[in-house]
Amino acid sequence: VQFQRRQTPPTKKHHRAYKLYLRQDFLHRCAYCLIHEAHYGGLRNFHVDHFRPKGLPKFRHLALVYTNLYYACALCNTNKGNTWPTDELLNLGFRFLDPCEEDPFEGHLEINKQDGSLLVQTPAGEYTVYHLRLNRNQLKKHRCRLFEAQRMCEAARGLLASADLPAAQRRQIETVIEELEKDYRNPLPPYESGDLRR
Ligand SMILES: [Zn+2]
Repeated sequence: VQFQRRQTPPTKKHHRAYKLYLRQDFLHRCAYCLIHEAHYGGLRNFHVDHFRPKGLPKFRHLALVYTNLYYACALCNTNKGNTWPTDELLNLGFRFLDPCEEDPFEGHLEINKQDGSLLVQTPAGEYTVYHLRLNRNQLKKHRCRLFEAQRMCEAARGLLASADLPAAQRRQIETVIEELEKDYRNPLPPYESGDLRR
C-alpha cells in the first residue's frame, strides 16, 4: 500500500486536530502495520504520528506540518517514538520505509503466508520491521487470520462455481463471502468521530 494525501487541512494549533483528516487519508489504517481501526480498538486506539519525530530538535519545525503527520496505531507509534537513523546508518540504507512515498511491499518487505511474519529484503525493510516491531505476535496472528478468511472466500467461490446448488443456498454462500470480504478487505470502523471528544 502507498497512501496518498487527498486533503490539505487548514493550519491547526495542535497536531491532534489533524487526526480526522489523517484518518481519511490513511484509509482508517495504521500507516506502518496497516491494521484497520475495526480490528484494533477503533479511532481512540490510533495516534497522530510524526514521521520525522518532533522530539528531535532538527525536526521540530515539522511538528504541525500535515505531510509529516501519519495515522498510526498506538503500538507502532509508541514503538517508533523518537527513533531516527543516524547519518552513518542512512548511508548504509537503514531508514524507515515511508508509506506515503513508496509501497513497502514492492521490493522491501514480503509476507510469509505460513506464519504471518514479514520477511525483509533491504536494510530499510530491516530497520522498519525492527524498530516498529512489525513481527510482534499480535500482528502475525492477525495476518494469519486475514489469510484464513481469504482462503475461506476462495473455497466458497469454488463451491459456487462447481456445484449445482439451489438458489436459496447460493444466496446464503454469497452472503458469507460478502461478510468475510468485508472483514479482511475493508471493514467498517466500529467507532466514529464522536469518540474523539472523550
Ligand atoms: Zn500499527
